[in-house]
Formats: sequence, structure tokens, C-alpha cells
Amino acid sequence: MPPRPVEKHVHPRGIFSRFKGNLEAIAIGVKYFFDPKRSTLIYPKEYIKLREGYRGFIVLVKNKCISCSSCARICPAAAMKMVKVPVTDPKTGKQRIKKFPVINYNRCIFCGYCVDVCPTEALYHVPYHDIVYESMEEAVTDLESFQKEPEYKTAKEGLPVRYIVDEVKGLVKIRVKKEGGEKK
Ligand code: SF4
Ligand code: SF4
Repeated sequence: MPPRPVEKHVHPRGIFSRFKGNLEAIAIGVKYFFDPKRSTLIYPKEYIKLREGYRGFIVLVKNKCISCSSCARICPAAAMKMVKVPVTDPKTGKQRIKKFPVINYNRCIFCGYCVDVCPTEALYHVPYHDIVYESMEEAVTDLESFQKEPEYKTAKEGLPVRYIVDEVKGLVKIRVKKEGGEKK
């Protein structure tokens, strides 16, 4: 049996060799920092304008809700639950208890099952998901806040952009007018 070849371990020599990988990484970062074609999203000065139909935050239209609980039952993240609320029956004028959904955005994964399953279209998505909450409690809606579209501060302060794939340039960031038109 021929002797096994002895592996030679090459030790990097000099300070440059030791930090070669780090220096290369820094050089790449600097190169792209000054590259006018870089496609980094400068958030929150810029934000991605999402298309209509995007599964963002969810809003309840209370008068369409028939309290079937399908939304809470289908939720895979246990983010939606039903709460009991006293309501006045418009026909009899008597008070009765009705159930409505509320949502915990600490748990929601924005799958949209609840919106899809609702038989009366009492739930709908807004096309954004980057809302800032200052506490965990704030991200849990009550019935009143679940009926309001969350305030989208980024859209007021930032510039909307979109990314497109260009066959030559690759990923290209495009400035989008707030009203919907596009400009480079
Ligand atoms: S979007 Fe998905 S995770 Fe969020 S409340 Fe609806 S069903 Fe639950
Ligand atoms: S599925 Fe729709 S109608 Fe049924 S409880 Fe949920 S929101 Fe109300």
C-alpha cells in the first residue's frame, strides 16, 4: 500500500494575509456604497409601494360580520379570537350578546386565511405591513381599533419605490409617484 501523502498546512503570513477576507468584504461594501446603481432601500426615507391585493394589516367591517367565528377558527397562529359584545337588536330593541373578531398582531403571520374564509367579506387587507408599535399591548386590537385602518406614517414621510428586474442591469429601484405613476 503506497504511503499516504502528507498534507501541507499553509499558514498565512503577514498582517494582510490574516485579515485578507475582512478587507475584501470591506472593499466590496465601500464599492457598493458609492455605486450610483446600488439598489439598497433607504428605509424609512424610502419604502416599497406594495401592489393592490398585498396581504397587509386587516380591518373589520363590523356591520358585515355575522359572528360565524370562521376567521378565528381557521387562524393557524391563534392570532384572531372572538370577543363578546352587547348589541341592541334593531328589530326588537332588546340587548343581546354578539361575538366579533379581534386580532393580535404579535402572533399574526399575515397568511390571509381569515380574510379568504369570511363568507360576508367583513375583513379586508390594507396593502402595507410596516407599522410601528411601541409595546406588545398596542399590537393587540380591540373591537374599535380593529375597525380602523392603522395609520401608515411611513407613507406620509417616505418616498415610495418599487423594484424591477432589468435584463441588463439586474435589480433596479424605481421611484414611484405617491399617486401611482412611475418616474426614474
Ligand atoms: S392573517 Fe392569518 S395569522 Fe393573521 S389573523 Fe388572519 S388567519 Fe390568523
Ligand atoms: S368570518 Fe367574517 S363574518 Fe365570520 S366572524 Fe369572522 S369576520 Fe365575522
